[in-house]
Amino acid sequence: MPTYLFSCTVCGAFDLIRPMSESGAPAECPSCARPARRVLAAPALRSLPTGLRSALDAQHRSADLPDVVTSPPPRTGRVQRRVTDPRQLRLPRP
Ligand SMILES: [Zn+2]
Repeated sequence: MPTYLFSCTVCGAFDLIRPMSESGAPAECPSCARPARRVLAAPALRSLPTGLRSALDAQHRSADLPDVVTSPPPRTGRVQRRVTDPRQLRLPRP
């Protein structure tokens, strides 16, 4: 659902998420409950790739309701060390 910008004469601007079919419907300020008028602004388009968008949505969801885990995630295999300088191979190993 799109986000619309409204302006209250007392409290100022606020965002409201509502269906497009209700874009022209009157709104009331969430702080003082007075009628607010819609302000036309640049559209907040979501043109992100699907994977990035779902990751950002999960990040926002986890801010309020984090997932609870009981064990660490499984290891995916041996960690590859990237050698950019051959002198790194002669350094002592831990
Ligand atoms: Zn207000």
